[in-house]
Amino acid sequence: MKIVILGPPVSGTSTFSSILSSKFNLLHISPGNIFQENIIKKTPLGIKAKKFYDKGLLVPDDITIDLIISRLKETDCEKGFVLEGFPRSIKQAEALDEFTKIDFFIYVNIPEWLAVKRITSRRVCKNCKRVYSLINVKPKIEGICDVCGGELIQRADDNPESIKKRFREFEEKTKPVLEHYKNKGMFNSILCDKMKSVPEENIEKILKIIRG
Ligand SMILES: [Zn+2]
Repeated sequence: MKIVILGPPVSGTSTFSSILSSKFNLLHISPGNIFQENIIKKTPLGIKAKKFYDKGLLVPDDITIDLIISRLKETDCEKGFVLEGFPRSIKQAEALDEFTKIDFFIYVNIPEWLAVKRITSRRVCKNCKRVYSLINVKPKIEGICDVCGGELIQRADDNPESIKKRFREFEEKTKPVLEHYKNKGMFNSILCDKMKSVPEENIEKILKIIRG
C-alpha cells in the first residue's frame, strides 16, 4: 500500500505517518529524513542538498525529486510506504505519478487558528531541547523541564506572525498539488479542528478512508 500524507506545519502529519507505518508495516519516508540520511552518508545528492540547507534555503525541486524517487526505488519500499510531506509542488506530483501509482492521498486539514494556538503553546527545554505543549504535554512544574530541570523557553520563531506566514506559504504552494489530486479523483482529507485531540482519533479518520 502506498500512502501520501500532506498537511500544513504542526498538523500532525509526522505523528500520523509513523503510527500508520508501524500499523501496516510500511516504511515512513519524509524529505526531512531522507535529506538527513543523505547528508550524513555524504552521497552526491546529499552534498548538493547540504549546500541549500546550510544557507537556510529550500532544497530545489530537482534535488528533492531525485532524493525521494531514488529512495522509493529501493527494494525495501516494494511493499509500499507512507510518504509524508511530498509532493509539495506540481513538478514533484508529476514525478511521483511517473514513478508509481499511489493508493491514497490524504490531506490533513487544520485551521490556521489551531496552528497558531499549537505553536504559541510550545515550550522547549533550553538544556535538553525536549518539546512541551501547554495544551496537552504540560511540564509537571511550570517553566521547568521534567527530564533535566532546565528552563523552558519559547523559540524565537514560535510566534503568531511567523506561523501565519509559514501556514499561508504552505497553503499557497500546495494548492496546485491538492487540485492535482482532486482532478485525479484521489483527494481525501481529514479535518483536525479540536484543540485537544489524541492522534488515535485522527488515525481512525484516516483508516476509514483506507478501508473505504
Ligand atoms: Zn530538559
